[in-house]
Amino acid sequence: MQNFSYVKATSVDEAVQQLAEGGARVHAGGTDLLGCLRDDVFEVDRVVSISGLEALKGIRQGSDGTLRIGALTPIAEVASNPLILERAQALAQAAAEVGTPQLRNQGTLGGNLCQKPRCWYYRGPFACMRKAGGPCFAVNGNNEGHAIFGGVGCHVVHPSDTAPALVALGATARLVGPDGSRSVPLEDFFVLPSQDFTRENVLEPGEVMTEVVVPAPGSGVRGSYAKVRGRRSWDFALVGVALALDMASDGTVETARVVFSGVAATPWRSGAAERVITGQRLTPEVIRLAAEAAVEGAQPMTHNQYKVPMMKALLERELAAMA
Ligand SMILES: Cc1cc2nc3c(=O)[nH]c(=O)nc-3n(C[C@H](O)[C@H](O)[C@H](O)COP(=O)(O)OP(=O)(O)OC[C@H]3O[C@@H](n4cnc5c(N)ncnc54)[C@H](O)[C@@H]3O)c2cc1C
Repeated sequence: MQNFSYVKATSVDEAVQQLAEGGARVHAGGTDLLGCLRDDVFEVDRVVSISGLEALKGIRQGSDGTLRIGALTPIAEVASNPLILERAQALAQAAAEVGTPQLRNQGTLGGNLCQKPRCWYYRGPFACMRKAGGPCFAVNGNNEGHAIFGGVGCHVVHPSDTAPALVALGATARLVGPDGSRSVPLEDFFVLPSQDFTRENVLEPGEVMTEVVVPAPGSGVRGSYAKVRGRRSWDFALVGVALALDMASDGTVETARVVFSGVAATPWRSGAAERVITGQRLTPEVIRLAAEAAVEGAQPMTHNQYKVPMMKALLERELAAMA
């Protein structure tokens, strides 16, 4: 493993200051970072640990009903917290789907959102496009786990389960950096390869995610997250879908957010599926049309064509459960 210096920050300001110089990386739970360092995914001069910053841990409800989740909150706590179970079911279900109990205890929400993609070429000894500006080896190689949407040049998928749920819930991330703090809707946080294939999100050097803010849900909002994976024990999503539907008492969908995981380099919001179900009751025909709409424009490669019927089947199943 490459050599690096290690700093344990005692405040967010100190972390930002230590991160401002090039070649520094944040360490939260370390479950993804250490794998990246071992596999030489990126170079690092300094690891700045924020793991001791108690102010970034915990979940609380604001007077306006918003949920504020510290970026260092363990994923296991997100999965089991009563406020999240009651007010943000999609997030609780997504957090419960992450990895193993050990990973959920050690991994943090911020780390889950900022983790690196799991492409076997990117993580392996290949000078691929994202890592070193070479070609995307998935195009003519094994692309079984890769993107079917938005894969311009690089075909990784975003590995996080909590990200699609938080996008569906309209959550915002608070970022603190050398130029102060800013709030970014999670829908705008992630970056497609067509925007910039060298990065996964809009974090600038020196910026730290400090918390995630989930707005108060409307009274009729129902949410869910489900994923299909290769193994039952633990695995990343082959395809997942998060729903946040605001439903009238007669079952009409008033507003809808449908966000897939496992199909693109970012959580993939399906405006087409949302348009089909908005203003409708979830009849079998409406659900079928929504599933058809969700896969419009998909561009599968040689080994990941299975993701198209998988997306449709998963969305149909989840919408039927809502109905
Ligand atoms: C075997 C295995 C199985 C897994 N399965 C799943 C799965 O099924 N679903 C899933 O969603 N994930 C899965 N993961 C990923 C796992 O959830 C992440 O490793 C974990 O969430 C990262 O959290 P962490 O706190 O350990 O982050 P770290 O490893 O400390 O950091 C991860 C990255 O995020 C950056 N970072 C961390 N926190 C911040 C912050 N607050 N601000 C700015 N940057 C930050 C770090 O610099 C680093 O680049 C799996 C991982 C492993 C090893």
